[in-house]
Amino acid sequence: MQAVLPQLALPTPLLIFVSIMLSGLALYQERRRIEALQSRRIYKAVVEALPDCLNVKDLDGRFIAANPATAALMHATDAKALIGKTDFDFYSQETAREFREDELAILAAGVPSTIEQRLHHEDGTNGWLSTLKAPLRDQTGTIVGLITHNRDITTRRQLEDELAESRVRLADALTHMADGLVMFDRDGKLVLSNAQYIAMFPQTADIRVPGADYRDILRVSAARGEQIVPPDGVEDWIGAIVASRKLSSNRQEVWLADGRWLDVRTRPTGDGGSLSVYSDITDAKHVEAELLAANEKLHLLASRDGLTELLTRRAFDEALACEFARGKRNTTPLSLLIIDVDWFKRFNDHYGHPAGDECLRAVSGCIKAAARRPADAAARYGGEEFALILPETDARGAFVIAENLRTGVRDIKLAHAGSEKGIVTVSIGVGTFDPGSSSIEVADLLRRADEALYGAKVAGRDRVHGWRPHLSEHHSAGARRRQ
Ligand code: GH3
Ligand code: MG
Ligand code: MG
Repeated sequence: MQAVLPQLALPTPLLIFVSIMLSGLALYQERRRIEALQSRRIYKAVVEALPDCLNVKDLDGRFIAANPATAALMHATDAKALIGKTDFDFYSQETAREFREDELAILAAGVPSTIEQRLHHEDGTNGWLSTLKAPLRDQTGTIVGLITHNRDITTRRQLEDELAESRVRLADALTHMADGLVMFDRDGKLVLSNAQYIAMFPQTADIRVPGADYRDILRVSAARGEQIVPPDGVEDWIGAIVASRKLSSNRQEVWLADGRWLDVRTRPTGDGGSLSVYSDITDAKHVEAELLAANEKLHLLASRDGLTELLTRRAFDEALACEFARGKRNTTPLSLLIIDVDWFKRFNDHYGHPAGDECLRAVSGCIKAAARRPADAAARYGGEEFALILPETDARGAFVIAENLRTGVRDIKLAHAGSEKGIVTVSIGVGTFDPGSSSIEVADLLRRADEALYGAKVAGRDRVHGWRPHLSEHHSAGARRRQ
């Protein structure tokens, strides 16, 4: 040793340098080893903690590596239990075969691919996986296995299935509902509609499409004459309709130019849009109009006397009460004429009942002629008695009208063999309500006219009598006559 050493001896500074270099290298390598160990530990920890499945298989489908999530998915005791096994050891033949076919396809293609796989466990549980499969290559680039990353998307698929089912149900409901339905978003763009809605607007069906603006639809509808809109008021009409979409409850009846009626119920939706339901109410509208006309006819029938077409007794009572109240309110006078055909029983007896009817019709014609003002109301009071309500007419005015009426009846010169006058004549009693001089009720006014008529009869008929207080003593007889 002693003899060799001097031969190997190197200059001391060089020796120190080499030894420092060697120990530095050793330290560097040790650090690299520790760093590599650490990063392996980190990767391992990440892979083990990963909720998704991550595994590597060889070309024959045998597990080379797998994380605990893979073991859990495959119902294996732990990740180690998978090593060396294939899908056929854990899944049904059918599922394992499907999985293998997927793997072989990717191995053949040689590129990564993401697929969705249905999962059937032996215990009957099913699910869905989103699977990324990538070929594993060695340093030379040769494919030596397959990396698989699975994510359990069962819940997502269930939600998607439910959503699809809901959509189908909704579409079904929309298609089969009797009404038209349309939905606009907060900006007034058409979002959704059904076929019935489109069919209700044949002239603008082409523009009622998703994304169309409500204002544009209305504008075109007006321009094409589908809806009845004043030409200079189109924008106001559109503005009102668009604004009404925001109302919490909005119901409108729309009359289309072709005569159809639509009932439109609109509600705002939670996102600031609106939902409208359209019903064709044309038939109902026609029925309603017919009903209104029938009601009017009925009312007319009930308020008009069949023989003379004058007001019936019932309509007369209503009209008198109304005019009397108005007279009181406005402190204006009101006169009432009661007209009775003289010796009418004898007329009937002599000429027969049908001729009597004709006579009543002729007299009623004279009364109609005497009722000149629109508010004047002529009525058949009973049998051969008539009444004429003269609002805003005092006793003098009423007397003039009554006298004209009396002579008017004489002027028709209807022969009456049973009367000493030789022609049909009438007696008229005039009662007046004068708000300036007395305070009476409707019944008093009627009684006064009735008493005046009785006076005219007693005085020889074919005359007009106004009410005078001393005539009251005959009242009871007059009232009896009318019952
Ligand atoms: P007076 O001059 O006192 O009024 O005698 P009058 O005969 O006219 O009076 P009365 O009340 O005794 O007779 C009225 C008659 O009117 C009796 C009735 O047969 C007849 N009469 C009532 N309503 C009708 C009707 O609708 N048609 C016809 N033809 N006659 C009627
Ligand atoms: Mg009479
Ligand atoms: Mg009479």
